[in-house]
Amino acid sequence: MLAEGEPSFSFEFFPPKTDAGMRRLWGTVRRIEALSPTFVSVTYGAGGSSRQRTVEVTKRIAAETTLRPVAHLTAVGHSVAELRRIIGQYADVGIRDVLALRGDPPGDPGGPWTAHPEGFTHAHELVTLVRELGDFSVGVAAFPERHPRSPDWESDIRHFVAKCRAGADYAITQMFFHVEDYLRLRDRVAAAGCKTPIIPEIMPATDVRQIRRFAELSNAAFPEDLAHRLEAAREDPDASRRIGVEYATRMAHRLLAEGAPGLHYITLNQSDAAIEIHRDVMAERGAMPALRS
Ligand code: FAD
Repeated sequence: MLAEGEPSFSFEFFPPKTDAGMRRLWGTVRRIEALSPTFVSVTYGAGGSSRQRTVEVTKRIAAETTLRPVAHLTAVGHSVAELRRIIGQYADVGIRDVLALRGDPPGDPGGPWTAHPEGFTHAHELVTLVRELGDFSVGVAAFPERHPRSPDWESDIRHFVAKCRAGADYAITQMFFHVEDYLRLRDRVAAAGCKTPIIPEIMPATDVRQIRRFAELSNAAFPEDLAHRLEAAREDPDASRRIGVEYATRMAHRLLAEGAPGLHYITLNQSDAAIEIHRDVMAERGAMPALRS
């Protein structure tokens, strides 16, 4: 799925709960389609109807757009037979790209993990299953600040490398706000003899409260200087947006200059911030005019 030597550019959506949310998502999908990204991805919910919506949104993107959709899939609450069925549904409509994840316990993501009695305990088992079921490209998750459940870096890297060796073509990181964390992870993985490309995730931090909550959930250290600037601008959404977009744009440029194999933008189903960052990145590469002079 990733072209040799060319960075990939991808965008992440989530399955909306309402018709209004679906209309907004679809507007975003169309704007992003015009940018011809390498792929887009659709997250998988913790349970219930949101999971079926992931399948529906992913199928609709495949059927009605020129985009290549990657379906996130987690092992949470699923037997192996159910996972096989979901993967089969994707294969039936020609979707061949899965991001294979373990997932977190529903309700309290930090709570104790209990595998389904006929399911999987770790992501590497899902990677193996997807590989067995057909000609899929498989992605996995990577954690620049270490997975919150990993007791130390040594075990974190060992399990990550095992997951890659089970058949991952690439990894996408959790959100992070310090480029050095990504570079250190990449060095550790390379030192362990693993060459799987690790695509950094770019989260435009345009709303300080929302981002603090996401950062807490994902264990990402939020830079205090960025937080202060966003707090100072909290009554001015345009200024907050500018601050968040500028910070993320600087990260994006630096990551590519450091040889990152691509950028994966979180959109939260709103395209403006992600598109603005992407246009700036592409302008630097001489591929698209910048929005700002
Ligand atoms: P694993 O690779 O299984 O790792 C989990 C923990 O177990 C780690 O500490 C690891 O070191 C350890 N471990 C792994 N293998 C072994 C082993 N054999 N023995 C002992 N310990 C082991 N969640 C969702 O619910 N839906 C989504 O759509 C979603 N999308 C995501 C997209 C990205 C890019 C990322 C980075 C995360 C996403 N997540 C999503 C969150 C993810 O499901 C959680 O972070 C989850 O806690 C870890 O998933 P994993 O696939 O990395 O698990």
